[in-house]
Amino acid sequence: MPKSIPHSSEEYYCTNCKKFLTLLDVNLSWKCPTCSKYTHIRIINADSTIDQSCERILASELRSDDIILLHRNDDFKDVFSVRQDGDNIFANIKGHGGLKMHKDDTILKLVGGWYH
Ligand SMILES: [Zn+2]
Repeated sequence: MPKSIPHSSEEYYCTNCKKFLTLLDVNLSWKCPTCSKYTHIRIINADSTIDQSCERILASELRSDDIILLHRNDDFKDVFSVRQDGDNIFANIKGHGGLKMHKDDTILKLVGGWYH
């Protein structure tokens, strides 16, 4: 399973510091360099009337009932269950089925609309 790769349309915003950040600021950690919280990432989806905010979390941080985006232009999907076995994460995704990831892989988790 590929990692979540940043898209050129992405914007980054720290809701804690209330400021926009650049890809260089957040690169690799996807966290605010000032407060170390995950930044909101703007997700523009052609089929959606409003843009969404996601956090790019580690697979090891994924939990059941999270809502994730596997591929850009795909629908957001519900996570039914998550199980860790060694370095691997096994998730059961609604409408997708089983998903195997490395614990350090990244994945986009929905946090709400983009209102920044
Ligand atoms: Zn911050």
